[in-house]
Amino acid sequence: MMNYTEKIREAARRLLSEGKVDLVIGYRRGTVPMMNEPIHVRQADQVDQLYWDSFCGVNLANYLPKRTERIAIVAKGCDSRNIVVHLQEGQIQRDQLTILGAPCEGMLDRRKVWNRLAGREPLEVREENDQLAVTGRGFTERFPRLELLQDNCAICLHRNPVIHDELLGETVPEQTEVDRYGDIRAVEAMNPEEKWQYFEKLIEPCIRCYACRNACPQCYCPLCFCDESKPQWVGKSLDKTDLRTFHFLRAFHLAGRCTDCGACERACPVGIKVRQFTKKLEKDVWERYQFEAGIIVEGRPPLDVFLPDDSQEFIK
Ligand code: SF4
Ligand code: SF4
Ligand code: SF4
Repeated sequence: MMNYTEKIREAARRLLSEGKVDLVIGYRRGTVPMMNEPIHVRQADQVDQLYWDSFCGVNLANYLPKRTERIAIVAKGCDSRNIVVHLQEGQIQRDQLTILGAPCEGMLDRRKVWNRLAGREPLEVREENDQLAVTGRGFTERFPRLELLQDNCAICLHRNPVIHDELLGETVPEQTEVDRYGDIRAVEAMNPEEKWQYFEKLIEPCIRCYACRNACPQCYCPLCFCDESKPQWVGKSLDKTDLRTFHFLRAFHLAGRCTDCGACERACPVGIKVRQFTKKLEKDVWERYQFEAGIIVEGRPPLDVFLPDDSQEFIK
């Protein structure tokens, strides 16, 4: 585990007391184990609330759109990519930001820990090198850290921040030998009926709480299509057509913009693997344009531009 807590506090204290930023966006310890939460710190005497461990999976870029202050923000690889997308989409200006880059060894999935505990309540969770030590009433168990990674982190290719002003630690080796799309290829190989059943089953438990949308940095529209009532694009019920429409349209709005940060999946209270939608589109954008969202600061993303000789083979 990279321990950045003291470095984040030092940077926040310095930047706030020197008047270089108005606000620091970071993490604080959650009120229960493994549930760290975002915090906005505005005064140097409050920086000791800032905290870091391997349960900082919330994507802090979600708190940037349309802000007008000068902001220091803690950014893992994925957060930094979402910051780049915000810069490209005009949601924030580069000179407003001091990016505290956090080279990342992957965030841990609290659900995987709960599964290992089989109903026993975790009261304290500590990281001990490559182990996670979990203590509850009458037990302490240790699990290998690598077995508890969030699914997206296990296949992440950009753990180091792609953009930063200060680095909180040494860069980490990037993963190269990962198969990002094995699960997507398995769905692509299904026949239409099997695909239909697969997605029906995938979204069946959805309760339309919109936590996935709200956790996503790229879902920043002031009025989401599913909240619009004049005209109403999609009903608000759990009717199957409405449910499908929500998931399909949300995914299409993320095409070429999703960084696979996993914040949506992490937020879902019923454990739906919503990245199954966005990863398919990510794969298609890579295969068609060799483009990954949020990697290159300069230039426009491919779905942002139109060329008269664009391929149109999809129009029959
Ligand atoms: S997606 Fe990558 S950068 Fe983001 S938390 Fe996971 S390993 Fe770290
Ligand atoms: S759709 Fe999910 S994985 Fe993609 S950027 Fe949004 S929160 Fe991250
Ligand atoms: S967070 Fe989960 S339950 Fe809520 S709308 Fe998204 S997929 Fe459905």
